[in-house]
Amino acid sequence: MNAPYPVRNFDAAAPPLHVLVIGGGVGGLALAQGLKREGVSAAVYERERSLASRLQGYRVHISPGGSRALHECLTPHLFDAFDRTCGKPGRSFRFMTEQMKPLLTLDASMISNDDPIARHRSVSRITLRQVLMAELADLHLGKTFVRYEERDGRVIAHFDDGSSAEGDILVAADGSGSRVRRQFLPDAPLIDTGVAAISGKVFLDEAGERLAPRLRDGMCLVAGRDGTGLFVALQDVVAADGAIGANEPGTEASGAVFENTRSYVMWGLGAKRDRLVGLDANEHDPAKLGAVAQRTVAGWAPAFRDLIALADPTTLSQFSIRTSAPVAPWPTGRVTLIGDAIHAMTPYRGIGANMALEDAVRLTRALVAAARGERDLFDAIGAYEDAMRDYAFRAVRNSLNAMNGAVDAGAMRLTLQRLMFRAIDRLPALKRWMGSRMGRD
Ligand SMILES: Cc1cc2nc3c(=O)[nH]c(=O)nc-3n(C[C@H](O)[C@H](O)[C@H](O)COP(=O)(O)OP(=O)(O)OC[C@H]3O[C@@H](n4cnc5c(N)ncnc54)[C@H](O)[C@@H]3O)c2cc1C
Repeated sequence: MNAPYPVRNFDAAAPPLHVLVIGGGVGGLALAQGLKREGVSAAVYERERSLASRLQGYRVHISPGGSRALHECLTPHLFDAFDRTCGKPGRSFRFMTEQMKPLLTLDASMISNDDPIARHRSVSRITLRQVLMAELADLHLGKTFVRYEERDGRVIAHFDDGSSAEGDILVAADGSGSRVRRQFLPDAPLIDTGVAAISGKVFLDEAGERLAPRLRDGMCLVAGRDGTGLFVALQDVVAADGAIGANEPGTEASGAVFENTRSYVMWGLGAKRDRLVGLDANEHDPAKLGAVAQRTVAGWAPAFRDLIALADPTTLSQFSIRTSAPVAPWPTGRVTLIGDAIHAMTPYRGIGANMALEDAVRLTRALVAAARGERDLFDAIGAYEDAMRDYAFRAVRNSLNAMNGAVDAGAMRLTLQRLMFRAIDRLPALKRWMGSRMGRD
């Protein structure tokens, strides 16, 4: 049993700082946890009424940097809960052709390490949110932010139910469609890449035996000659702790939507929209999504066709892949932004959530320093914003390049890429170098 983490005290004479966090996703919740841990008052406003209001059960890759950020924001026992509910590490990372010819196979040990804190992890998104929501008393579900206003040195958030909340700082953590960003930085673009993805899960207890072993031992990436990219990842759940928080009030849902107790292989099939023939942007009917995905891989190796066909229909979803463009510095004030609200990126590097966590930990440090009177509030926020624009938009660029390499790369680029992968596969030193480079993300 862990002792409760001691809340640190700071100058009682300093005016208390109250932070409004709009959005209870990965970034907003980590920020709230970090502030709580340091004794700074923060309230989170999340539009969803419960954790299970929508399908969001896919696994999320947490990098060493993301793990470090979580370790700093969470109390030790919550970090421990996060750690225990992560999936077991996979054994390999494979690059293959659409005909399932191996190009490059990296042993997982080349990419990750066994550092107790800063290592690669794979966690169910819903489980991560359960851990991040735990013990946050000032968390308001079912609160949809509409607009903010600044008045008398305070910032006021208005919600669609007519209520409002007042604080010193308002943090936009409301994801890629951020309403806060639309008001605060109306010119900051959210760009549709023209690429769409269909995702699904194959539960190992139902259909696992019918999956090719190479598709259930870690991760796999395919950049197909037909312009389609496929990402496959194992989420090997540690069952005993997977049910953490399952009794959280309001989360009565079960099955695939509220899924964090069954191991699965997830896949994401991405292509320019016109290649996903028959896919309407508003289509959510699983039968239709499944049919489009199966048609798209009709010419692929049978094991890939099986992977797509075996997905549990209730887990199929589609989404448009969006990215953002660097934003010029803005005058620092009472409104700031973290995560996808300011730097949405394609999921092709699996680092968007990690960037949101990095933002959360850095903004926590800035606000804590200001709350303690160690630093001017706006200097501290401004320094966070300067650094964030640099590292986060670098990640945006890298994620876009990764998408362009996987989807519609062009015959020449693909041929070179495949030659390079095959060459690296034969050279152990180069393989180790590539593994350690990938391990840095
Ligand atoms: C298929 C897919 C796979 C991915 N895999 C990975 C991965 O493996 N690793 C990784 O690092 N990243 C991954 N990402 C990216 C990652 O999911 C995002 O970058 C990350 O969730 C961003 O966190 P956030 O807190 O900024 O936003 P979000 O997690 O999107 O949270 C925003 C929150 O704000 C709430 N909200 C929105 N509008 C309002 C409003 N008006 N009022 C109140 N609340 C509101 C939303 O309901 C939501 O809860 C993936 C993305 C996708 C699409």
